[in-house]
Amino acid sequence: MATANIPSIAVVASSRAVISGRLTSATVVISRTTGKITAVFDSVIPASEFPADTPYTDYSPNVLLPGLVDAHVHLNEPGRTEWEGFYTGTQAAAFGGVTTVIDMPLNAIPPTTTVAGLKEKLDAASGKCWVDVGFYGGIIPGNAHELKGLVQEGVRGFKGFLIDSGVDEFPAVGQKDIQKAMAELADEPTTLMFHAEMVPPITKSVGDEAQSSDPPAAPTGPLEAYSTFLDSRPSEFETCAIESIMSMAHLAPNLQLHIVHLSAMEAIPILREARARGVKVTAETCFHYLSLASEQIRDGDTRHKCCPPIRSQLNQDGLWDELEQHAGDGVIKTVVSDHSPCTPNLKQLPSHIPGYFDTGKEETGDFFSAWGGISSVGLGLPILWTELSRRKGLTPNEDENTKKALQDVVRLCCANTAAQVGLETRKGDLRVGFDADICVFDDSAEWVVEPSTMLFRNKCSPYQGRTLRGMVRETWLRGERIFSRENNFGDKGPAGKLLLEKRV
Ligand SMILES: [Zn+2]
Repeated sequence: MATANIPSIAVVASSRAVISGRLTSATVVISRTTGKITAVFDSVIPASEFPADTPYTDYSPNVLLPGLVDAHVHLNEPGRTEWEGFYTGTQAAAFGGVTTVIDMPLNAIPPTTTVAGLKEKLDAASGKCWVDVGFYGGIIPGNAHELKGLVQEGVRGFKGFLIDSGVDEFPAVGQKDIQKAMAELADEPTTLMFHAEMVPPITKSVGDEAQSSDPPAAPTGPLEAYSTFLDSRPSEFETCAIESIMSMAHLAPNLQLHIVHLSAMEAIPILREARARGVKVTAETCFHYLSLASEQIRDGDTRHKCCPPIRSQLNQDGLWDELEQHAGDGVIKTVVSDHSPCTPNLKQLPSHIPGYFDTGKEETGDFFSAWGGISSVGLGLPILWTELSRRKGLTPNEDENTKKALQDVVRLCCANTAAQVGLETRKGDLRVGFDADICVFDDSAEWVVEPSTMLFRNKCSPYQGRTLRGMVRETWLRGERIFSRENNFGDKGPAGKLLLEKRV
């Protein structure tokens, strides 16, 4: 059988590309045999300069960005595949220019807390991923002996909870468990991450038991009021947990620590002070904490429930201040989705909220019994761009603010997220030798989030109906176009790889 002569290179160019953190014009040459970038020029070189059959596209004035690395998603397969799965979750990622996702160790069954559990997950993921996928391991009571094995198998880091995780198979860790994990991982090339919420030892708060709204730990107001839920998980839960973790950091001074989904701005000075003392700790925040505020959340709209909670507008501004003013030495290094979906019935939405699911009984939107988690994988770039445009007054005309905003997005969602998971020599930049993972971004187009643009399994997200600014026109994975807004996914099928090279 004759095979077509496939050109060995492809070329993409634009008057605007973010290369090594800087907005510039660029021509990027890609090897189609290795999927790597083989040359980058800082101008738009015309197609005529390349062999006649070379696939060549000048995307000007759309922006060439490195594919985003979303370092925090829950894909839930195997075990809760009705919540999400590798196929749908990674397709949603590709739609939004995300070319790498890192899957969290909980909500799948089994959780990724043992080497055997990881192997089950790899089997489940095989052949279903539209983008590259890496994996975190989990720390739970009694699994310290598994951690070194998981490092060997290529997990990108570990996560533990200091408060109820919401699922029985992933219990919270106490001080002794953390100390054991730190001892095991002290000199391993990995990152130890925490869901940093903890009920302070002395508190008038009803604490995490309020989640189940069981008496006598009764919430302080109506269960469908967002303010009641917010009051039940105050900022002190985060600051208390972070202080506790920081007090143990000396046990493993070489181990990188990380706080996932930081919400409370009050935690920032604590982390800054720890970093000044030499503690290796970073934090991430999420698209929702930077774009949603408690004042706007309607009663019963549990699409907004996540833990830690979305806080006030003032708190949102505080997180932005940290990103803005401390770009170089800030504590928040990355922005991620924490995509954490469930089936729509578990959100218990009342019938007037989009995403409502008819369970046969009238739902009240009880914030305490609804599942906590926000669906947004693949929406992050336009969410961030919409918010940046509003805050900076960005206009479609090129100016210094737009340039800085594009560079900031790449730092927070590509370069630094890649570094967070040990992929900084391969992902997160458009540089010679890197994977040719490319997001073609139209920074002026506006569009409305609707079910047809939410490719994750369950179309239930607080962003539904919102007009977002910035549209991903195409996504390239290792030198091949895998998605275009015009032609969708084509007929090639999932080409994502599982990222299992051990961190160094
Ligand atoms: Zn999460």
